[in-house]
Amino acid sequence: MDLSRFPSFRLDGKVALVTGGSKGIGLAMACALGIHGANVVIASRNADDLQKVAEDMNNQGLKFSWIQADVTDKERVNDMIDQIVEQHGRLDILVNNAGMNIRKPLIEVEEEDWDQVLNTNLKGIFLVGQAAAKQMMKQRSGKIINISSILGGIGMPFQTSYAASKGGINQLTKVWASELSPYNINVNAIAPAYIRTPMTGAWLQDEERYKEIVRNTMMNRIGEPEDVAGPVVFLASDAANYITGHILYVDGGWTAK
Ligand code: NDP
Repeated sequence: MDLSRFPSFRLDGKVALVTGGSKGIGLAMACALGIHGANVVIASRNADDLQKVAEDMNNQGLKFSWIQADVTDKERVNDMIDQIVEQHGRLDILVNNAGMNIRKPLIEVEEEDWDQVLNTNLKGIFLVGQAAAKQMMKQRSGKIINISSILGGIGMPFQTSYAASKGGINQLTKVWASELSPYNINVNAIAPAYIRTPMTGAWLQDEERYKEIVRNTMMNRIGEPEDVAGPVVFLASDAANYITGHILYVDGGWTAK
């Protein structure tokens, strides 16, 4: 057996952008990529949060830098990708993660709620994905990992705008996979169930709801941000070179039940 033919899970020398990398799942994924050797750029709207995280990670021996950017602002998004290429010479991995939620019963959803969620979760993913793809096509290589949700594929109450945005992300993932595969760019999605983060903190405080979520999960527990670390490293690495257009559920068995 020729062991040199086996691909590596290491990411040394790769340049990765994680949007929404200052908190929650984005931060855990950024750390995981950094631990595996990537040069990580985190981006979000709050510069103080970004700076603190980058300092902390650099003090712990990782290679982190940050860019303040709102993913709904096309000009800013394009500048962000240009800045990364200027500073690092390339962009190998995009983790398209920035997102938000406004949970309301259908009949109470305001047009502004819908616009805010769809602008961040779907338009934002599109804008960052498009700008990153332009660079990756020049390089003829890249990995795009969109962060979806189990709500991209199943229904649950009070998730009108969010589920619509995540279903859209699943479709974008498949369309981009087919369009970008000639350029050696893999496009996949990770679809987590409930993960304990600032986004879900208040929602999970309701004891009944919490118990119901745990009951629905084969693994019998809520997910932690670190549960998404292994899947993102795998999809970002050469070990996943023959996987594209895939929605990887990280849900403790929720959708298999
Ligand atoms: P958090 O609220 O903990 O973190 C969201 C991150 O996105 C923050 O860094 C935030 O920073 C950034 N962000 C939000 N809006 C924008 C914007 N317009 N431009 C740039 N950055 C932005 O969320 P989670 O970690 O829980 O969620 C991360 C992703 O995972 C989301 O896409 C979410 O839908 C998905 N997900 C989460 C699940 C969960 O249970 N937590 C389950 C399934 C999917 P700032 O506010 O400073 O901009």
